[in-house]
Amino acid sequence: MSLLSMLEGAGGAAPCSAAGCPAEAEHALHWRNPRIHAADRVKTWAACAEHRESLAAWLADRGFPVAVTPFGETVERVA
Ligand SMILES: [Zn+2]
Repeated sequence: MSLLSMLEGAGGAAPCSAAGCPAEAEHALHWRNPRIHAADRVKTWAACAEHRESLAAWLADRGFPVAVTPFGETVERVA
């Protein structure tokens, strides 16, 4: 069992990935840095409703592909 599935088994709640934000995540941002990550590598951030836009914008500003899903969903890859 992976750490992630253990966490999900414990209720699925996670704090937002934004620095200092204690809110519970409602969304997941799946992304990668094409310069250092292979195409099948996906990093995932948790985001509350308030920080979903700013975290996605931070990634988009750097040219990183990002896909946003409800928290708890996974994606195979981000284009
Ligand atoms: Zn937040």
